[in-house]
Amino acid sequence: MLQPALPAAPETGLAYPKEPPRKRSKAHLLFVREQPCLVCQQAPCDAHHLKFAQSGALGRKVSDELAVSLCRAHHEELHRHGNERAWWTNLQIAPLPVAQDLWAASPVHGPTHSATSIAPLPANLGSEALPR
Ligand SMILES: [Zn+2]
Ligand SMILES: [Zn+2]
Repeated sequence: MLQPALPAAPETGLAYPKEPPRKRSKAHLLFVREQPCLVCQQAPCDAHHLKFAQSGALGRKVSDELAVSLCRAHHEELHRHGNERAWWTNLQIAPLPVAQDLWAASPVHGPTHSATSIAPLPANLGSEALPR
């Protein structure tokens, strides 16, 4: 007797003919990995992608723009935990602003807008406060 063949597995090849462009940058991930762990300030770190922040209905992949630095221990703990949002909440850490700051400070943008936010204050404020 022939064993009945197992039913053919459904086609699992996920074909995305036109994957939307997402921000990817190895340089940025290297930069992130140079940062201290968000939780314990230790280094060196892994770059962890904030999946909960960008997992929309389309199941889009997380762009490198939303990466934060976690040491190996905390990175593994987070992945083992499973509920990323709850993990961050439990630690009272808001990783999204951190990721955005890291992206803003990342060297991948080049030197074009360096030091534009540092406006030197006039040094003679005191001398102009004389009473009349
Ligand atoms: Zn850590
Ligand atoms: Zn991760």
